[in-house]
Amino acid sequence: MKKLISLAIVFAMMLAICLCPGLAEGEKVTATGVGQGIDGDVVVQVEADATTIYDVQVLEQNETEGIGSVAVEKLPGEIVASNSILVDDISGATVTSTAIKTAIREALTSAGIDPAAFETEQAKAEAVEKTAETLDCDVVIVGAGGAGLTAAVRATQEGAKVLVLEKMPFVGGNSLKASGGMNCAGTKFQEAEGITDSGVQEFIEDTMNGGHQLNDLALVTTMAENSAEAVEWLESIGAPLPKVAATGGTTHKYLHSPEDGSPVGAYLVAKLSEEAEKQGIEIMLNTTATEILMDNGAAVGVKANDAEHDYTINAKAVILASGGFGANFELMCSFNPSLANAVTTNHPGATGDGIMMAEAVGAATVDMEQIQLHPTVYQATSMLVSEKMRSLGAILVNHEGKRFTNDLATRDAVSAAELEQTGGYAWIIFDQNLVDHNKSAAQYIEQGMAVTGETYEALAEAMDVDVAAFVETMNTWNEAVKTGEDKEFGRNNGMDDDLSTAPFYAIQIAPGIHHTMGGIKIDTDTEVISTEGAVIPGLFAAGETTGGVHGGNRIGGNAVCDFVVFGRIAGANAAAYAAAAEVAPAA
Ligand code: ADP
Repeated sequence: MKKLISLAIVFAMMLAICLCPGLAEGEKVTATGVGQGIDGDVVVQVEADATTIYDVQVLEQNETEGIGSVAVEKLPGEIVASNSILVDDISGATVTSTAIKTAIREALTSAGIDPAAFETEQAKAEAVEKTAETLDCDVVIVGAGGAGLTAAVRATQEGAKVLVLEKMPFVGGNSLKASGGMNCAGTKFQEAEGITDSGVQEFIEDTMNGGHQLNDLALVTTMAENSAEAVEWLESIGAPLPKVAATGGTTHKYLHSPEDGSPVGAYLVAKLSEEAEKQGIEIMLNTTATEILMDNGAAVGVKANDAEHDYTINAKAVILASGGFGANFELMCSFNPSLANAVTTNHPGATGDGIMMAEAVGAATVDMEQIQLHPTVYQATSMLVSEKMRSLGAILVNHEGKRFTNDLATRDAVSAAELEQTGGYAWIIFDQNLVDHNKSAAQYIEQGMAVTGETYEALAEAMDVDVAAFVETMNTWNEAVKTGEDKEFGRNNGMDDDLSTAPFYAIQIAPGIHHTMGGIKIDTDTEVISTEGAVIPGLFAAGETTGGVHGGNRIGGNAVCDFVVFGRIAGANAAAYAAAAEVAPAA
């Protein structure tokens, strides 16, 4: 239906072009145009004459909430205010920004106005001269992703006055995209489901084995030992994760997720943001930290800026929670040049700023060359297909319609196996029963990522794989689920349900850059460690900006555990440090 409306609008535009060869001077017109957004058409209405854009309204759109929606909200006003289509794209929402601008150009053209009139440099608003401003707080936090928001809430609970800086126009970072869950051991939710065999020790061992023993054992132990308390703390702020499942590379069920099956990242970012708002925590969006201020070897604040200000932020403690560098190809390729042409699932703000800022004040880094490929990335949009799909029963098949690996082995092993298949890709196969139990699966279908068939034969044809081989693969798999034994590849989890409920679905996937395991060296108190092996006073770090927790390969569900556990520790310790510290002026 939406497509039909859009087609009608385009037809009306074309008619307008034919009927409207030129515009009388000063004549104001209203016209509509269409641009291609992240999820369908973005329809925009423009009111303008030959020299002025008076109004821009987005009439129709289905852009991602919290990302594209920011462009929908802000860009029209900026274009009208500057009378220019050349305004900067909203950071992180380039596709939506481009869609809006394309639609405006189409609308203007259809109304007989040359869009070029609004694309000159003179038409672009003059750059604003920045004003210097000094702010004071107890704890300044760089980054409002999972780690930063957790640390902010925790530090505030401990009585600190907190300021959070976020360089993007929205909070959430990569955490917003986490789709699976949070690994935890020894929780009351496991107990409620009768899971007695997956304790802290097993969680530590699985994490160390998954990370090829490269992990920092002390950090892993801290994460596992504090995971149950962390999940209870989340419940205490209104974010329970009561559903328990297994994830790739684990021997037991640690993965905790929301009751309604919704993706964990968006759920936690929303709940943490709500709590931060309730506590009156100030989060400065579009504000980039650029440098750590030091006094006598201790961190005492940061320099930051936004479009209008250069800030000096004096603080008693600094927490770096600025995420990884999975969107910084230059930095990644300096460690692994073969990644140059890979797609990345990372948000554009994942550029490793915190790591570079920390190095500039003498911090050590660890495992920087450990960059994870995730095996199930839909290449057309770099959209990650959650590991939870396989935990709930999905399987992987190759171009020949056959399984080729233990689908729930560690991410690096599955990615490597995929790259060895014809074309270096695979299909993830699931059924209607799985869709009925997983919101993400339904979203993938809505977004047009899946091909479908009422029978295995029809699905094989839609995938263009050998029909007989695929039907045999599915029958063999369903039998393995029934007997609980995967004779081909030894998979032993995510086998509660078979794949026998029509219709059937397949998404074509391949490996994509997902997580940077390396980063700033910290101790178990989240204190940043220098290249000399000493604590840098006043400087704390948590989340993907740090290294050591995941070693050579991160297990699905451990990023969330990492940011909640170490975000809490950083928040509490930075608040305690700030309470004890003398007020020190910025250098
Ligand atoms: P984590 O899981 O460790 O919290 P995320 O990627 O979820 O990591 O969040 C990190 C956040 O830090 C992102 O929202 C990112 O935009 C933000 N960020 C990165 N660099 C800076 C910077 N220089 N100043 C302010 N915010 C930053």
